[in-house]
Amino acid sequence: MTSLEVSHLDVKFGNRKVISDLSFSLSSGEIASLLGPSGCGKTTLLRAIAGLLTPSGGTIRLGTQLVGLSSLSLAPHKRSTGYVPQQGALFPHLNVARNIAFGIDKKKFSRSQIESRTFEMLELIGMSGYEQVMPTELSGGQQTRVALARALAIKPKMVLLDEPFSALDAHLRNELRADVIALLRSLGATAILVTHDREEALVASDKVFLMRDGAIAQYGSPEDVYENPTSPEIAVSTGDAMILPARQSMDGTVSYPLNTIVNNAAGSKGYVVIRPEEIVVSQQSSVGMKAKLLALDYFGHDAMLTFSLAHTSDLIKVRVAGHAGYLVGETLSLSHEGPIRFFKE
Ligand code: ADP
Ligand code: MG
Repeated sequence: MTSLEVSHLDVKFGNRKVISDLSFSLSSGEIASLLGPSGCGKTTLLRAIAGLLTPSGGTIRLGTQLVGLSSLSLAPHKRSTGYVPQQGALFPHLNVARNIAFGIDKKKFSRSQIESRTFEMLELIGMSGYEQVMPTELSGGQQTRVALARALAIKPKMVLLDEPFSALDAHLRNELRADVIALLRSLGATAILVTHDREEALVASDKVFLMRDGAIAQYGSPEDVYENPTSPEIAVSTGDAMILPARQSMDGTVSYPLNTIVNNAAGSKGYVVIRPEEIVVSQQSSVGMKAKLLALDYFGHDAMLTFSLAHTSDLIKVRVAGHAGYLVGETLSLSHEGPIRFFKE
C-alpha cells in the first residue's frame, strides 16, 4: 500500500469552488474517516483522488508518484485506487464474478489468473459460490461486499469508500463495517471512509477528518477530535454536546450554569461545550447544582435525562445507564466532572 498527500487542492464546477485549498496526508496503512454534512464536498474529494475529475489547483501524490494536478491527471486505472462509489453501483447486467473482475486489466492477466483472483476475492468477502448470482438477487449487505471485492480485486494502493454502509440497517451496518475494517487492516490498506455518521467515523478509523464547506475544519485521532473540538460546531458534529453561555475572568476561571449564575459573573463572554456523559447526577443536595428532571429518553443501554436549572433557561442533558431508574419530576443535583472547554464569543 502507499501514503497519500493532498496539497492545496482546489476543485471547481464552473465558477463554483467546491474544494478550496484543502491539504492533508495519510501514512501507508492508515485508515481515515471523512466526516461532514451533505454537500460539503466529500464525494468530490474522493473523486479527485480516484482520478475521476481533474482538480483546478493543487497536487495529489500516491507514494512518490504525482497523480493529480490541474495540468496532469493520471487516468483512474493507472492510479490503482480502489473506489467504492456512494451507491454501491454494481453493474446490473453482470453477474457477481464479472462485476468483481471488471477492473482487472484483461491484457495483463490471463483468463485463469483473473478467475482465480475472483475466487480469492469471493472467499475474502465470505461469498464463495455466488459467482453466477445477479446483483438484483443480492441483499444490501451482499451488494456492498461485492462492490468492495471489485475495488480490492485490482490490488489497489489506496481504497476509497464513499458511504458504503449508509443504505443498510443499523445492526447489519455495524457488523459489516467491523468486517470491512478488519479486512482492510489485514491487507494493510491505506483507506478513506466517507461517512456522515459520527459514531462510524469515530469507531472505524485511525484519523478523523472533519470537513466543512470544501475544507478540513479539524483532524486528529478519534479521541482527540471528540475531546478537544476547536469550535462548538465541531463538537456537535462528533457527538452530543451542550453549548452553554459562559464567562471567563482575567485569571482564567470559567463561570457557567453548572458552577455559577453566569449573568452575574465578570469576564469575557463565551460558551462552554459539555458532553452529556460528563455530568454526574446525585441524590445529595449538598453537591452541585439543583435541577429538576423534565424528561427521560430510554435507549436500553443508556438513557438521556433532560434537566432544567433554576437560574437559566438552558436545558441540561445527562447520559446515564439505562437501568438507573430516575423519576420525571424529581429534583436532583448535577455536577460537571469533565474538561471545561471555553470558546470566546
Ligand atoms: P458530499 O459528498 O459531501 O455530500 P459532494 O462532493 O457530492 O458533497 O458535492 C459538493 C458540492 O458540489 C455540492 O454542492 C454539489 O451540488 C456540487 N457538485 C457535485 N458534483 C457536481 C458536478 N458534477 N457538477 C456541479 N456541481 C457538483
Ligand atoms: Mg457524497
